Amino acid sequence: MRRQPIDPAFLAEPAPPARLCDHPGCEAGGDFRAPRSRLELNCYYWFCLEHVRAYNLAWNYYAGMSDAEIEAEIRRDTVWHRPTWRLGERHGPGPQIRDHFGVYRSNGQAHGGERQSGQARQAAARANSAREQALAVFDLEPPLTPTHLKARYKVLVKLHHPDAHGGDKAAEEKLKIINQAYATLKASYCN
Ligand SMILES: [Zn+2]
Repeated sequence: MRRQPIDPAFLAEPAPPARLCDHPGCEAGGDFRAPRSRLELNCYYWFCLEHVRAYNLAWNYYAGMSDAEIEAEIRRDTVWHRPTWRLGERHGPGPQIRDHFGVYRSNGQAHGGERQSGQARQAAARANSAREQALAVFDLEPPLTPTHLKARYKVLVKLHHPDAHGGDKAAEEKLKIINQAYATLKASYCN
């Protein structure tokens, strides 16, 4: 029996990149990873070479500055052609989860200043407040790792499981809140 010949065009076609660059609008492969922030060193963006270089430059540029200094720096850059805003308002996560360029988000969408719609801003604010609440429920602060989060979840479930409270209604409610917070944190970190 003869094998089917392989179409040479198929062989010549490069495999599509497994992961796209996180830089908004860039369609190159995201082969290089960079930590999202100093406080989330286990969460990464994935960039092409060009964009990981740009990201690293910005990272080094701000390294060692206090939050206030970084904010002053960014405001100085933007104040002449954009309305001023506080960092926390501009990109939501606030000082704990620094987004170095202010243009990267986990979904890879661009959102700088006037380009970000009010709706997107509201959604981001909602997501952030949900995340903050969830962090409060878990009594945790970033950086979070999946292992860290899971361990804390197990402790909380054990602590508040209704079975441990004679089927107590309040414990059941608390467990519901814990489960919800767990889902929120899992979705917003390190994915
Ligand atoms: Zn890129």
